[in-house]
Amino acid sequence: MLDYHLHLWPHEDAETWLSIDQIADYCEEAAKHGVVEVALTEHLHRFTQAADIVGKFWEKSDDNPAVQESIANYFDHHARSDLDAYVELASEAKRQGLPVKIGMEVDYYQGQMEEVGTLLSQYPFDVLLGSVHWIGAWQFDDVKNPVVMEQWDARDVDACWEAYTGAMEELAATKTCDVLAHPDLIKCAGRIPENPTEWWDRLAEAAKNSGMAAELSSAGWRNLAHEQYPAVPLLERFIAHGVPMTTASDAHRVDRVAERMEDLQRLASSSGLTSLASFENRQRVDIDLEGL
Ligand SMILES: [Zn+2]
Ligand SMILES: [Zn+2]
Repeated sequence: MLDYHLHLWPHEDAETWLSIDQIADYCEEAAKHGVVEVALTEHLHRFTQAADIVGKFWEKSDDNPAVQESIANYFDHHARSDLDAYVELASEAKRQGLPVKIGMEVDYYQGQMEEVGTLLSQYPFDVLLGSVHWIGAWQFDDVKNPVVMEQWDARDVDACWEAYTGAMEELAATKTCDVLAHPDLIKCAGRIPENPTEWWDRLAEAAKNSGMAAELSSAGWRNLAHEQYPAVPLLERFIAHGVPMTTASDAHRVDRVAERMEDLQRLASSSGLTSLASFENRQRVDIDLEGL
């Protein structure tokens, strides 16, 4: 199998010194679950080079001051690392023969993806994940944050799914990235519309039209969604549309690397998936699922 979504920094931590030993530990843990290749995909918003480009984008939203302050604090805490050093470390791990791909989890910045793409094109990435983590200034997936949850209580669930799907469609259309990460992340707080069919249809269409792959991730089992990303009906739509799929844990620490990979493998097979997408130098290479 493949684990194409891994973070080296724990969620709250911005100070951990990254090392080749840590990457080697990730590879060892992955191998225990039958994973032959991992992609390191740190958040773009960790890096000062990205923060310099996107600026205080949240100030353009019409969200209330508490919501804007919350994301401002988040960026202040997290955007402290050097992109050059991260890419060099991942490259060195690869040179040393570890089964590693150099990747990035790229957030969607409305109207700013051209600049983001230009920055990323200066680095030797193998794979770029594309993610929608906020709507305006609202970090809807930060479900431990009371400011975020107040919004979940105040907003209409259908409207949240509509806004999220619109942002995913925009992100896909920019073609900045290779893989749509956790494609139905909007279910992360466990708030599901009565009938999500329209949004599932549109997410699958967006992936197909962009030529991007989509991610089958075990991370949803760890949160209030209580199921993998994407939901089975959306996974079936991706497969029916011929959208290539990766598998992923979205681990932020070593003991979660390749978490529930066996369950993902079973789900992939039972849904009729026959291959997984791997990437090298941003070119997709399909690998027969039977051989994994
Ligand atoms: Zn993410
Ligand atoms: Zn992630």
